[in-house]
Amino acid sequence: MKVPFIPVSEPQITPEDIASVTSALSDGWISGESHYVTQFENDMCLKVGRKYGIAVSNGSVALDLTIEALNLQPGDEVILPSFTIISCLSQLLRKGVKPIFVDADSATWNMQTNTVESLVTSRTKAILAVHIYGLPCDMNPLADIAIRHGIPLIEDAAEAHGLLYYGKQCGSFGFASTFSFYANKNVTTGEGGMILTDNLDFAQKIRSLRNLGFSPEERFVHKELGWNSRLSSIQCALGISQLKRLDKIILRRQEIAARYLEAFSNLDIVQFPVHKTAYATNNYWVFGMVLNEDAGRTSKEIRSILEANGIGTRPFFFPLHRQPVLKQYGLDSSVDELPIATKLGKYGFYIPNGLAITEQQQDCVIEKVSECLK
Ligand SMILES: *Cc1c(COP(=O)(O)O)cnc(C)c1O
Repeated sequence: MKVPFIPVSEPQITPEDIASVTSALSDGWISGESHYVTQFENDMCLKVGRKYGIAVSNGSVALDLTIEALNLQPGDEVILPSFTIISCLSQLLRKGVKPIFVDADSATWNMQTNTVESLVTSRTKAILAVHIYGLPCDMNPLADIAIRHGIPLIEDAAEAHGLLYYGKQCGSFGFASTFSFYANKNVTTGEGGMILTDNLDFAQKIRSLRNLGFSPEERFVHKELGWNSRLSSIQCALGISQLKRLDKIILRRQEIAARYLEAFSNLDIVQFPVHKTAYATNNYWVFGMVLNEDAGRTSKEIRSILEANGIGTRPFFFPLHRQPVLKQYGLDSSVDELPIATKLGKYGFYIPNGLAITEQQQDCVIEKVSECLK
């Protein structure tokens, strides 16, 4: 008999979502320029508490355009966590910017903040903070360093829609923040992203980069080049509808996590996410776990057993400081130690917590995971 497979993140599309998308289609608004796009941008601004929002085709492009608009030069440096997705690094490497990697905190899995100040040099042109797996990064120490050294703080909030840091929305802290609306994110448009900022010049620059560098005065006369990074109205219609129930989505993820945490309270060979810090409560965007090193098993081994038993899983991020691609850009991937990011990459993985998961599916995950890890 074939085991039924439980995907790691099955999205939830409601009748309201479908109605919203259908209305865009039946109104004939399908391109990346319409009131659906501006409404989605405005709704995000309202939710997060920002002045300007620029919808783009995905969260990686949101980061690419942000880095592009900072006008960085070869040899400049940007400080960022090692434990994050490649999207944070790609455009830095393409621009010849030197990434300065920070290790992760072993409990929160977010970047350590106490080592950042010592990494600032005269070439540092930005700090890129990333909220990891549903627990906000400790922003105040970073904002403080950024202000004292006069460098912009960029906030990758792709995993942090609706999360609060000391009661304030993630995505509202940096000079600019970026979001993703990929299928597994708290708010999804299938594929999609956005840049938020309070700086008008920066917003205009990003708008131009998003839209081929068309000039407002003479459309087909170009003083600069951009890309076509627009997000379609059909996708924005979905985003508008999804955003309306963000608070419910967050509660649902916490409910899924609470069930797991209770069921797994006897498992002592894994570390679970931190539930609460002084500044935030975990939203459990993904439900991650990290095997103890002395258990003698890597996440790869455990994942292959779970997958064979019909349980979808994903590995944690592979640390950026060890990415083989660094070599292509003249950087040595073996110099930095960063032991915690390395350990998370080797021993961490996450299990199904998609919004569409049923209780029965969750029971099945609990049974298989407990069996595998006892
Ligand atoms: C998902 C994600 C991105 C990339 O977003 P895409 O829309 O998939 O391109 C960037 N940063 C972080 C932290 C993410 O989780």
